[in-house]
Amino acid sequence: MHLDVLNPATEEIVATVPAASAQEVDAAVARARAAFPAWRDVAPGDRARLLRAFAEKVDVHAEELAVLEVREAGHPIAQARWEAANLRDVLHYYAGAPERLTGLQIPVPGGVDVTFKEPLGVVAVIVPWNFPMPVLGWGVAPALAAGNTVIVKPAEWTPLTALRVAELALEAGLPEGVLQVVPGEGPVAGRRLADHPDVRKIVFTGSTRVGKELMAACAPDVKRLTLELGGKSANIVYADADLERAAATAPYAVFENAGQDCCARSRILVQRDVYDRFLALLEPAVSGLVVGDPGDEKTEIGPLISAAHLARVRSYVPDDAPVAFRGEAPDGPGFWYPPTVLATPDFRSVRAWHEEVFGPVVTVAPFTDESEAIALANDTPYGLSGSIWTRDIGRALRTARAVQAGNLSVNSHSSVRYWTPFGGYKQSGLGRELGPDALDAFTETKNVFLNTEP
Ligand code: NAD
Repeated sequence: MHLDVLNPATEEIVATVPAASAQEVDAAVARARAAFPAWRDVAPGDRARLLRAFAEKVDVHAEELAVLEVREAGHPIAQARWEAANLRDVLHYYAGAPERLTGLQIPVPGGVDVTFKEPLGVVAVIVPWNFPMPVLGWGVAPALAAGNTVIVKPAEWTPLTALRVAELALEAGLPEGVLQVVPGEGPVAGRRLADHPDVRKIVFTGSTRVGKELMAACAPDVKRLTLELGGKSANIVYADADLERAAATAPYAVFENAGQDCCARSRILVQRDVYDRFLALLEPAVSGLVVGDPGDEKTEIGPLISAAHLARVRSYVPDDAPVAFRGEAPDGPGFWYPPTVLATPDFRSVRAWHEEVFGPVVTVAPFTDESEAIALANDTPYGLSGSIWTRDIGRALRTARAVQAGNLSVNSHSSVRYWTPFGGYKQSGLGRELGPDALDAFTETKNVFLNTEP
């Protein structure tokens, strides 16, 4: 079996990569298992140095990695550079962790009690195609820092950067078997990792449907599991907000990466008094988006990942859809779809209002007051992200506390910052990645009591 990697902007095949069978996955797990004891026992300072060397290799090859991401994922080059830099930064951040992986000393009668944070063993990281390098780094960096060995299963459409990153890890001095990349089909290679008894943890980022399947697959071995799943996030704009800024930034909060972003603010809720004014400001912001050749430095939005995904996104905008206005998209080859704004007072009848489109389609809806805004924002099975625009600090905090989502930003659209925890409420996920506590998800706590009684 082989995977054909297509350039989504041209539809040309840029590489063909062997797809791992279940037996090949088993062999990778055996190598990871064999490499584990020595990697666990590397002195913390040495493990830190190796992770720093790995980060520096990524830095030296950042442009090469970014160009590879443009080719396999169609990401605009400026964004792809950010993605390579994010992988480097996350490796540097967690390079600081091995030397700080402290336990507790707990006061108890009759002796001394201490806790240790011990690695789990073999960890598998299953990665989607929408942000191949960052998502790989968020799992790999803390897992390695904690002393685990890691197998990455990249998405079928985007294995190239992951394969190159694994080569860079070896060049940086990571021992063989500590970080492996196994490209393959989800239901074959991904599923085998979840079923394999020697894999102690799955980190999965992808669709809620597959996430639920993996949760069940992990049950027989009580395998540890982190899930980063879908989203249907709200961008709440109150009447007292800086409307010009809210409207100028709203397109990027949903259309960046062609809307293929789990944190996409794909529902814009606007207070009724300023609804018309906001739409009037939004229209030029959407028509001004630069959609086109991903290799061009000025391009802001590229194509969708595949023909099948384009057909799926299109299905959310039938002929009778309430299209308020649209941006541009190139003609010719490539999986292009124009940024599209749907707006109607009857927004609940719009399918795109309820479901994750994962494409450049946003629905704008009016609301009357704070309680209605919060109720609308929470009226979804997801809870990943969201934004709140207001000049009233009390209202900003009340709304942020009431919206059931893991990552909220006020007067900005920030979601993922590697210094802070990231993850979802409800069906958007399980557990948290990034931030200072990420190593807790890659360690077991061992408690040891030492009797000091004579
Ligand atoms: P997907 O679930 O189809 O695939 C994700 C990964 O899982 C791929 O590597 C795929 O090969 C693998 N996979 C597929 N079926 C599998 C199976 N049965 N067993 C094991 N592995 C399997 O998702 P996708 O279409 O690649 O990504 C889009 C989804 O990812 C969206 O829903 C998006 O919101 C979500 N996402 C979430 C986050 C987050 O951090 N919350 C980040 C990025 C993407």
